[in-house]
Parts: sequence; C-alpha cells; structure tokens
Amino acid sequence: ERPRLVDDEEGGVLLYTTSSSSSSGFGYGSLEKQRQRLPVYKYKTAILYSVETHATTIIVGETGSGKTTQIPQYLKEAGWAEGGRMIACTQPRRLAVQAVATRVTEEMDVKLGEEVGYTIRFEDITNEKLTRVKFLTDGVLLREMMDDPLLSKYSVIMVDEAHERSLSTDILLGLLKKIQRRRPELRIIISSATIEAKSMAAFFNTRRRREEEQGPTKEPAILSVEGRGFNVEIFYVDDPVSDYVRSAVSTVMSIHDQERMGDILVFLTGQDDIDTAIQLLTEEAQSSGKQGLVSVPLYSGLPRADQDLVFSPTPRGKRKVIFSTNIAETSLTLEGIVYVVDSGFSKQRFYNPISDIENLVVAPISKASARQRAGRAGRVRPGKCFRLYTEDYFSNEMSVVGIPEIQRSNLVSCVIQLKALGIDNILGFDWPASPSPESMIRALEVLYSLGVLDDDAKLTSPTGFQVAEIPLDPLISKMILASCELGCSEEIITIAAVLSIQSIWIPVRGVQKQLDEAKLRFAAAEGDHVTFLNVYKGFMQSNKSSKWCHKNFINYHAMRKVIEVREQLKRITQRLGIGLKSCEGDIQAVKKAITAGFFANAARLEPFSHNGMYKTLRTSQEVYIHPSSVLFRVNPKFIVYHSLVSTDRQYMRNVITIDPSWLTEAAPHFYQKQLHSSIPQ
Ligand code: ADP
Ligand code: MG
Repeated sequence: ERPRLVDDEEGGVLLYTTSSSSSSGFGYGSLEKQRQRLPVYKYKTAILYSVETHATTIIVGETGSGKTTQIPQYLKEAGWAEGGRMIACTQPRRLAVQAVATRVTEEMDVKLGEEVGYTIRFEDITNEKLTRVKFLTDGVLLREMMDDPLLSKYSVIMVDEAHERSLSTDILLGLLKKIQRRRPELRIIISSATIEAKSMAAFFNTRRRREEEQGPTKEPAILSVEGRGFNVEIFYVDDPVSDYVRSAVSTVMSIHDQERMGDILVFLTGQDDIDTAIQLLTEEAQSSGKQGLVSVPLYSGLPRADQDLVFSPTPRGKRKVIFSTNIAETSLTLEGIVYVVDSGFSKQRFYNPISDIENLVVAPISKASARQRAGRAGRVRPGKCFRLYTEDYFSNEMSVVGIPEIQRSNLVSCVIQLKALGIDNILGFDWPASPSPESMIRALEVLYSLGVLDDDAKLTSPTGFQVAEIPLDPLISKMILASCELGCSEEIITIAAVLSIQSIWIPVRGVQKQLDEAKLRFAAAEGDHVTFLNVYKGFMQSNKSSKWCHKNFINYHAMRKVIEVREQLKRITQRLGIGLKSCEGDIQAVKKAITAGFFANAARLEPFSHNGMYKTLRTSQEVYIHPSSVLFRVNPKFIVYHSLVSTDRQYMRNVITIDPSWLTEAAPHFYQKQLHSSIPQ
C-alpha cells in the first residue's frame, strides 16, 4: 500500500500521512494500459531483436519513456531469465533502485523480493532461488564480481543511467567490456537519457576485423526511443539571484498564484536547502493565507515512507510541490509535473589530487542537465520551466556537459576494487574516460601506506584482501581491521556504522540551542566518534526507544539503520574470521584504531591562531572544525577528521583528538618527512 497525501484543511500547506489507501491511486486506466502507452512499447520488438543479435545494445530515450521499468520485463517475457539465469539492471542511486524495483513488482503483480528484487549496500531484498529480475546499484554489481568475476549468473546486464557517468558506472563499463570477451553469450544494454551514444558505441566496439565471427555482432547497436515529450516554455530571471532557495520559494508562490493547476518540481541541491525551502514556503503560504499547496521533499537520505509520498497522487484541488535534489533529473519519473523551477545548481564531488582533498560542493550544473530538468515539465502536457539564472549565463557560461565522476573523485576505493579483481595494470586499464594520473598515484600512495598494497602494487595478504572485502571506504575498513588488533572492534564497528549514515542528529532549524544542549549530554572530550559511542549506548539502554530519540534530538530512523549496518558489519567481520572484542572503556585503543585508518586526514591547530584555523599535516591546507562537531571551539592541538565539507571554508566533520606520535606509528612512510620537519615532539 502506498502512503497518501491527505488534505490539511487548516494550515493550507502540507501535510501527508502514511495512512494507506485502498485504490491503486491512478486515475487513468489499468497498469497494463499504461505500460502500452509508454514510448518504449513500440520498440519492444526492435529492442529484443537487437539484444538477440548484438553483444551490446545502446538505448537512448527520454526520461519517462519506460526504459528502466519496461526493458527488464520485456527481457524476462522473451525468456532471458529462463534456465536459472538472471537479468540485472543497475542504477547509480540507491533510492532509484528501490523505487524502480517497487514499481516493477506492482506492474507484474508480484511480491518484492521474490521474482523481482533489489540489492543496495547493506540491503538485499532478493531470493536466491526465486529472483529473476534484479535491480541493483552499479557499486553492488562491482562487489558481486569479487565472488563471481564473470558475473556468470546474469544473461543480460542493463547499465542504466549511463549518461550520469558515475564512478562505479565507468568502472563497470570498463570491466564489462573485458567480461564480454570471455562470455560471448552475455548481453549488455547501456541505456541513457541523453545522446552520448556514439562515443559509448565506439568504446564497446570490440570487433576484430579479420577473425571469423560467430555469435552476436560485436558492433554495438544504437536504438533511439522517440519520446512524446510536450513543449516546455523556458523563462529566465532578468538579473542573477543572490539566494536561490528564497528565489525558488517565491517563484513557487507566483506559479501558484498565476498558473493553471499542475504540480511543481523544484531542483535544489541537498537536504539542507530542501528543508529550508519547505519551511519558508510553509511560512509564506500561512502569512499570505494561500491554500492548496502540499510540499514534499525528495533526497537520497529520505526514510522509505517519505520517499513513497513523492509518488502518491496529489489530492484533488491541491498542488504538489516536490523539492528535490538532482535525483529527479533523470533517475526517477514523477507523474503530473507541469512546472519546473531550476536553481541551476547541484551538489557535486570534486577532488584535488594535489591537496588530496575531496569535497561535495554546490556547483553550477551543465546545459545538458538544465535541459533534462526542463524536460521534466513536459510529461503530461505542455509545461513551463523557470530558470533561476539569466539567459546570458545559460548561453555563454554554462558548460555543455558535466565531467565524468571518475575525473573528479578520489580513487582509493576504485583502485582497491580493481586490484581485488586482479587488474594489475590500472594505468593501462581501458576506461570509458581516463582518470588523471595524479589521482591514480595519490590513491596508490594512500593504499600503500595503509598496508593494503605491497611494493609491487599488489594486494597484501591478508590485510589488502580483507580491506577489499569490506564494502566500505578503505580507510574505514582499515580502521576496523586495526581495531581487531587493538581489542576494540565492538566499539569500532559501531563507529563505522554511524559514519556510514548521513547524520544521527535531527536537523532542527530555530532550536539550535536545544540541539546543542542535547549533544552536550553525549559529548566526549575525545571527539565525535566517542560521542557516537555514547549515543549508541544510550539508545540501546533505552531499549531502542523512539521517544528517547525524540527527547535527545536523535534521528530514530538513522539509529535503526545504524543497528542494521552494524549487524551486517558484524557478519562481514565474522566471515573474515575476525572475532569481535570490546575494549571496555579503553578509549585510547579506539582512538588508535581510528588513527590507523585515517592518519592521512590529520591536522594541527595553527599556533597563535585566533579563529581555530588548522592546517592538514600533509599538504598544509587551511581547515576548520565543523560547527556540528563536539570539538568545535575546543580546538585541540592535533586531530584526525573523517571528511571535509566545503562551504565558505573547508570544514572537518567528525573529528577526534590524537597524539601525533600515533601517526608515525600508524604510517611511518607516509609521515617520514613530517616527522623531522613539522611534527613537534
Ligand atoms: P525511464 O527509465 O525511461 O526514465 P521509467 O521506466 O522509469 O522511464 O518510467 C516509465 C513510466 O512508468 C513513467 O512514465 C511512469 O508513468 C511510470 N512510473 C515509473 N516509476 C513509477 C513510480 N514509482 N510510480 C508510479 N509510476 C511510475
Ligand atoms: Mg530510468
């Protein structure tokens, strides 16, 4: 049962509940009829023929044309899942995997986790015997290769959303090309919302001219699914806006005032933006007495029940406003959108191999993204797109396409995965887009100092193989392994679980003081990681009570997830033959284990600094403790941080105090130079 949006007669804006509805919720025709109306339906025979006769088929089609939900079903109907084989469909985003799998089970009228299932990291909703169609993240499919290098259980692998060029998609494409040589019977489908088909086809063109050819054609087929998108009228602002969140909200208000009914999709950059926008809209609607707006957030960390609200039908006489990250750009199809408000920004990953700093920053989108966003307005009838940037900016300053993620990422995880798959010559690997040699070298250097790679750049045994086996950032995996030696693995897997979650605190605007006070109850002088241990302990002692969480400004869903992830980590460590052990309050052991993984992220308080400025030990970058940290304003001399976020400055999130001598102990090679020059003893 899907949750439904319900009217809130008093407030005007909001609200929804998760009470279930009895109807299927769709006002037009049966699911089967809807399926047949999708653009991709007319291409069914062509697609199946192409897959039959070609090793690789590239399918380009607009968002909403039915690629993701229909093609796996066509393949199944055509028998590609018979004889114990499976059909895989990958997505870069976890949330899309869940949403699409759910939709397909509804269309097929089967139970999720049986014939159709999905797998994302730490969540496997499949059945080994029953599942024939499997949706999964590209990252999870890469992991599966560690046990099954040729992915032999799959007959067809559909790499969806290839235009996103996520890091894992690119690695996967490179590996699939290799697998194809060994498995001529394997079929690959690459599907994408934008035309980049030619370069993809060139990449997969493995035809060897002189050889006698057997089996499927090696040259990829390209199919273009003609959509029926309606015209979208584009509007620009006359002058650049200074605050895109405010500007988005006032644009929504004026659409609501002046335009015909129809839902609004607003593209912002992240949860913080989205929460602010919803609050502003609620206030504005209330103060102006405007009725009939229902606002819904959409971002990747959203709890499952809230995700479903996005897809539930808008109540009659209401206008739904979805505030989304770029997840709604192409990964998810939303019905009923007539108006799009485009901030022109998204959160993007950037990595600088010189400073070895990776950041998620709010950055301008490309023209290709802007066009996709506008296209979301033309699905049901002619629509309008309001761009919160000038026409001049669009024409003259926006880049044409985005940069593949592999060229703007830290490659530590990527390198270790390829190494684990036995790919030794990583620089010579056949990539759809080559990463920079500097980033590669940085990654090799870090892995070497972690003790994961040996002098010949091969995985060490057992450390290297064990780190590769744990599906987490290698720095975290190393921390876990170190904790086993230090006798604090019980504590460290709790910390690892918390770090894998966006935040365990409830973001509450306006009551910052209460939140800070709540945090103080758990705060540990050693830093955030130890604070997490206190929260976890409190939660367990409360008997996992949601009331307790509420009282302490702790996100109950996040804590449930922590417990789930922790269980998984426990299983993984058991599989690696590592027993769990508690240090019984010996916090120094915990901190040493953290340092063993994160020594590269060490920073020192600048002497005589009045504003809490730190410099990273290795590259002397200016960094500051994030205001959300329990060590904010405490400013201990030496710290290790988990990650950086960049806004006006580079902020270190999740920090812990250390003794600098641990650094040289943990990574002598890494800190050789600093030992003499910059770490005062
Ligand atoms: P594509 O992958 O080409 O972007 P999809 O297969 O995701 O297209 O979507 C095809 C159609 O299926 C959409 O136009 C929409 O009508 C319907 N649909 C997809 N996902 C959902 C969902 N979660 N809820 C309701 N309808 C959906
Ligand atoms: Mg899709």
